[in-house]
Amino acid sequence: MDMEKYDVIIIGAGPAGLSCAKQLGNSNLKVLLAEKNSVIGPKVCAGGLTGKSIKTLNLPDELIEFTYNKIHLFNKNNSFYIEDDSNFAYTIDRKVLGQWQLKQLDEFSNIEVKTDYRVSEITKEYIVINGEKIGYKHLVGADGSSSLVRRYLKLTTEKIGVAIQYIIPTTKYKDFEIYFDSNLFSAWYAWIFPHKNYVSIGCGGDPKTISSKQLKKNFSTWLEKHNIDVSQGKYEAFPINGDYKEYQFNGNIYLAGDSGGFASVLTGEGIYQALISGEEIGKIILNKNYHSLKLDDLINLQRKHHKILDRLVKAGKLRPLLIDVSKYLVKFKFFRKKVIKTIA
Ligand SMILES: Cc1cc2nc3c(=O)[nH]c(=O)nc-3n(C[C@H](O)[C@H](O)[C@H](O)COP(=O)(O)OP(=O)(O)OC[C@H]3O[C@@H](n4cnc5c(N)ncnc54)[C@H](O)[C@@H]3O)c2cc1C
Repeated sequence: MDMEKYDVIIIGAGPAGLSCAKQLGNSNLKVLLAEKNSVIGPKVCAGGLTGKSIKTLNLPDELIEFTYNKIHLFNKNNSFYIEDDSNFAYTIDRKVLGQWQLKQLDEFSNIEVKTDYRVSEITKEYIVINGEKIGYKHLVGADGSSSLVRRYLKLTTEKIGVAIQYIIPTTKYKDFEIYFDSNLFSAWYAWIFPHKNYVSIGCGGDPKTISSKQLKKNFSTWLEKHNIDVSQGKYEAFPINGDYKEYQFNGNIYLAGDSGGFASVLTGEGIYQALISGEEIGKIILNKNYHSLKLDDLINLQRKHHKILDRLVKAGKLRPLLIDVSKYLVKFKFFRKKVIKTIA
């Protein structure tokens, strides 16, 4: 029997894979979007969105859980707000986001979405799912931070973060909060992101600075310090890949989102980067002469975030002081706008 063939196979139906599929909708290409999970959407994530993602998604308002024009930042012994005239931070449930993106594919007859469909092997000509070989002309790795496609390409991954969180069913938290605690999280931070029926309380770290085991211990110390009860919470952990190399390989293989290392090593934000890289890779597949300025911007932003993170790491014991200085600087509109543009 002849091997089944697609023009494009996208592995992974996260924000990157779904936005790539949407871009390829209505084209004359036969596209397969293969997802290993049975339900599209759920993912270990705090569900924080920034203004950039909202503009990209054009999301209906009712899908957004909370909207903020200020972030409450906590430093060693004090706290302050970064506040703007317009909204710049939002929360959304990942299942809701995934299902909404999926629904947008309904109108395209050239896109086939298959769930419970785990790719187990990749070769130059085909992928293997449940023992079956399926051929491709273009292959898009949108399979997240432990990407099989990235491993097939033999790319090293060093700039990788680990983020852990508790999802707690409570409505008592209202503010979008970020906590810097140099001793516990080095240059990273802990967060409280409220959702309608739950809250994500988590933290991130660089495994090279703090081992995952130590990060979990430090997080418990921080939770105790802030009297946060996680006994009803669900514990989750997952890597975040910020080790970008290239997005196109051998002419017909592409990496989008976390598989491409597009997530920010500084903020841990990766949804926006996944949406943009997925969409832009779709455009490149449709037109091989297309030069993506949006991907250039994404790569520049990634470099900028790496530089800021390096400086914060090198600042060592001076980190809390730097954050204290920012507390005064954000009172000035120019600096405040610059900070918001860099992070949101
Ligand atoms: C604790 C935590 C909190 C975070 N909080 C935020 C936040 O608040 N805001 C933000 O912007 N980002 C956040 N991130 C990062 C964000 O979750 C990711 O950057 C984002 O999900 C990347 O999207 P993606 O489409 O590239 O990959 P993913 O969302 O990981 O999607 C990859 C998909 O590929 C599928 N897949 C994997 N392997 C296979 C295979 N072999 N075959 C078929 N399918 C496969 C997976 O099941 C998955 O559905 C957080 C991450 C963590 C760990």
